[in-house]
Amino acid sequence: MFVNCMDLPSADLLSRFDECFKFVDNALKSPGNRLLIHCFAGVSRSATVMIAYLMYRDGMCLDEAYGTVKEMRPIIKPNPGFMEQLELFEQMESKIDESNPMYKTYKLQVMAERIQAGEELSESDLCSTDIQTNNESFYRCMKCRQALFKTTSVMRHKMGEGEAAFDWRSKLPANQKEGFVSQTIDSTDCDKSLFIEPVRWMADSIRDMEGKLNCPKCKLKLGSFIWYGEKCPCGTWVAPAFHIQGSKVDLIKPRPLANVHQLTFSNGGQSDSRVVKTGQSDSSVLKMAQTDSSVVKSESNQLSCMSI
Ligand SMILES: [Zn+2]
Ligand SMILES: [Zn+2]
Repeated sequence: MFVNCMDLPSADLLSRFDECFKFVDNALKSPGNRLLIHCFAGVSRSATVMIAYLMYRDGMCLDEAYGTVKEMRPIIKPNPGFMEQLELFEQMESKIDESNPMYKTYKLQVMAERIQAGEELSESDLCSTDIQTNNESFYRCMKCRQALFKTTSVMRHKMGEGEAAFDWRSKLPANQKEGFVSQTIDSTDCDKSLFIEPVRWMADSIRDMEGKLNCPKCKLKLGSFIWYGEKCPCGTWVAPAFHIQGSKVDLIKPRPLANVHQLTFSNGGQSDSRVVKTGQSDSSVLKMAQTDSSVVKSESNQLSCMSI
């Protein structure tokens, strides 16, 4: 198994943790099996995966996992970006929680950096718009009633916090400021504008750095986007900004269960299938390979190897 990841603070290793864990779990399934994790210098990338794995498997906090790995290999030093990702991982109780507002903000910023670096997004990078009938509230086009996004896709921010409001790093304990991007509305949340995370129907229109957002069905102009960000009227800098005009959409709230069937309507039959992006090549790759080789001394069993 190979995972592309540069040893840069801006590189996203966090969203690859789950697949790494799955590989490691699998590799260590039989007692006696060994696992070798390495990267170019064995300092930053491999250490990050190792620390995260101990947090996930043994429930260690970040400090404890870091200390454990450092004891075994004193030269480890995850780069500052990876340390922040580990802190966010700890905030999520050592599991990747796609619905966590801080994780959503993190992913959005990773996406913005990728776009600004000239990469293309695939549909699987974007949030699904499939509207379930199970009591989820959502927004629809005021003109044609096309379901557009769930309320969970709304990116809230605090009134007038400036750039920090949309920087997930500022929400970590070490940088704690008042408030955080939340799913629950509180009195300091800005209600001047509606910003959302990018969703699948936008896939074709958000390849540029900025542009309009039109309803996928009736083409009504709903708002605009700009990857670099824009300033909300409350003073907060929102980046990236997917700005929907509140007057162009209707909020549909869940109804009592007995009436749920009334909520059912077509969303164009979109499916939520995930397409894994492949074919990237990079000289600096995180490699996870499971082999039968006996390079590492092992009594008998399988050796698994992860190289980064
Ligand atoms: Zn429409
Ligand atoms: Zn605002």
